[in-house]
This record gives sequence, C-alpha cells and structure tokens, in this order.
Amino acid sequence: MSSIPLQHLNTFQLNAHANELIAVTSVNQLEQLLPLTHPFLVLGGGSNMLFTENYQGRILANNIAGIKQWEDDNSHYFQVAGGENWHDFVMHCAELNIGGLENLALIPGSVGAAPVQNIGAYGVEFSQVCHEVIGYDIHTGLRHIFTNNDCQFAYRESVFKQQRHFFITQVTFKLTKQWQPQLSYGELKAWSAELNEAPTSQSVANKVIDVRNAKLPNPEILPNVGSFFKNPVVTTQHAKQLQHDYDNMPQYIVADGVKLAAGWLIDHLGLKGKSIGGAGVHTHQALVLVNNGKATSSDVINLAHLIIESVNQTFGVVLEPEVNLVDRDGYSKFETCHKRLTNV
Ligand SMILES: Cc1cc2nc3c(=O)[nH]c(=O)nc-3n(C[C@H](O)[C@H](O)[C@H](O)COP(=O)(O)OP(=O)(O)OC[C@H]3O[C@@H](n4cnc5c(N)ncnc54)[C@H](O)[C@@H]3O)c2cc1C
Repeated sequence: MSSIPLQHLNTFQLNAHANELIAVTSVNQLEQLLPLTHPFLVLGGGSNMLFTENYQGRILANNIAGIKQWEDDNSHYFQVAGGENWHDFVMHCAELNIGGLENLALIPGSVGAAPVQNIGAYGVEFSQVCHEVIGYDIHTGLRHIFTNNDCQFAYRESVFKQQRHFFITQVTFKLTKQWQPQLSYGELKAWSAELNEAPTSQSVANKVIDVRNAKLPNPEILPNVGSFFKNPVVTTQHAKQLQHDYDNMPQYIVADGVKLAAGWLIDHLGLKGKSIGGAGVHTHQALVLVNNGKATSSDVINLAHLIIESVNQTFGVVLEPEVNLVDRDGYSKFETCHKRLTNV
C-alpha cells in the first residue's frame, strides 16, 4: 500500500509515494509518537532526497517551529526548531546584524537537516557555528543532546548521517560577537575588494544570493537537488599524477588528501547538457542534475551511472552521490538502486 504522493515534497520532483506521512508540529507530539518500530524516515524540505522507488514506510515530516535567542559576553546564541526554514533563519540573523551564517544563504531546506550533511558553501560549514543539536532516538524515544564534538562533523558528514535513527528537533547556534567575514571564495573576494565600506553580514548574504542565483538553477523552476555528487578526495600521489595529465585541474589540499572539483571532472568530459530521458546535466553547472520535466528515477540513476563510469575511466576517481538515495526499503547505496532499476 503506497498512498502519499511525494512529488511535491522533494525538490527533484520524482513521482514516488510513501505508505504514510505524519506531520510533526511539536516536540510533545513527537514524544507521544515514539518509540517507533515501523520503517520510517525523517523529511525536511526534501532538497537532498531522491526517491527512486515508492517508499514502503512512514515519513515523519519535521514541521516544528520556533526560535529562542540569548547572549553572553562573547557570543549570540539561537536555539532554532528543526522545522524552521534555513534561509529565513540566515536572513533573520543578517537583519539583526549578527554574522556567521551569511555564506550559507539561499541553501534550500530546513534547520533540522543542516547538521545531517554538515551543509557548507563559500568557505563556511555548519560545524563552525553549531553549539549543540537536540535529537530524539526514534527507536527508544530518548532525548539526546549532542555537543559539537559528538556530532562528528566532517565534509558532508556527521553522526546523523551514519546513524539514521535520530529526529533532530532543535539546533543551537553560537555566533561570535567578534565576527569577521569569510571572503576567501573568489567572487566574494573580488566583490569585497571593490567595496568602499566594510562588508556586513547582510551585504555578504546579499552577494552570496546573487552569486548563487547566477550559477544554480532554482529548484522551483528546474527541479534539482543541488550538487548531485560529493567532491572526491584522492591521495597526494594520485593528485600529482592528475595535475601532470591535466595542468588546469583545480585541486585543494585537505586534511586527508587532495580534494578535486567533481563539477570540473564532469565538465571536462563534455557532459554538460547531456541527458537521458527527462534527466539532464545542467547546462551551466555540471555538478547539478536536473529534472527537465518528466524524469523517471531510471533516467536519473542511468545518467548518474554514466557520469560515474566516465569519470572513473578517465581519471580513476569514483564519484559518490551527495544526495540521499531512498528505495522501497529506505536509504540505499547507488549500486543497489542502479541494479534494481536496470535489473542487472
Ligand atoms: C539548489 C540547491 C542548492 C543546494 N546547495 C547546497 C549547498 O550549497 N551546500 C550544501 O551543503 N547543500 C546544498 N544543497 C542540499 C540541501 O539543500 C541541504 O542538504 C539541506 O540541508 C537539506 O535540507 P532539507 O530540509 O531539504 O532536508 P531533506 O532533503 O528533507 O533531508 C536530507 C537528509 O536529512 C535528514 N533530515 C532532514 N531533517 C531531519 C531532522 N529534523 N532530523 C534528522 N534528520 C533529518 C533526512 O532524513 C535526509 O537524510 C542544495 C540543494 C539544492 C536543491
């Protein structure tokens, strides 16, 4: 039995269904609902989800709202309910002239999802502003408080991505009063160099919005989930070889190796604009796959498979999806989705 249409609850707008959907509007309601033994998954704005089949489980939609604010000598604190809209909260802080979140403006989705993949953009990651996260264990109904350290943040990773059984109800942000803008990203650097006055949180947020609007398709007009793949990290030795073969390949040194730009790899293979059925590689941004109108999950998975194979053959690099893939049983690996949809 699959009865709840999900097409308008995920920004890729794939036509899938779930057995049941429960809109959670308060912590009390959640406490009464838990523990749950049935299959479930938590949904925010659906901007990082790809439903490749009808999901045979229950969806808990996070609609909990509310913001509390306090401060000490050094920092501003905000405890924000997980169902609040991320961008609205970023702009709320910018309007109060409280800095720290402005580089993360216009990322779609909810506050409760931000810790899950440790969202990041333009030189800032969620982990830098996270004080603590409150989540309920759906299996036991117990409330947990996670310090920043407990969250085990890494590039697009956290404990919540490894252990999918927490429902994040609140996130507490700690924003320093000694704010310094983060302007290392090329376009922000060039913009700030031309300014006659010091950048403010609001002016940086507005610039980030302009940069993003110029580069990324609006999911309401062209359905997508942002970056489809993570930027891969390779060994120093592998990176040196690639630099030798492709001298204009962008590379960034990170703690565990060298990070490559997945978009550059895809673009270099001439795959921008490539499409299979209704799924396509965005014509301006190779890291974004789009639904041109009537994409099926097979179209998207086949296109992603073609990209993964081509990148691997040419560069010896295996791309991993950044998007969360969900099949009929819940979270799924790319290979499993591909096998199921192509019967290989
Ligand atoms: C155009 C576009 C641009 C984007 N740009 C960026 C970017 O610059 N940087 C970036 O990092 N991401 C980006 N994204 C991805 C996406 O916006 C983020 O990952 C966002 O945090 C997802 O929020 P959501 O509420 O839509 O989560 P959903 O897609 O609903 O869920 C994502 C994951 O989080 C889990 N989850 C959601 N809410 C909760 C909760 N309350 N408790 C526990 N688990 C939860 C879900 O179960 C799922 O696993 C972009 C997406 C789009 C469409």
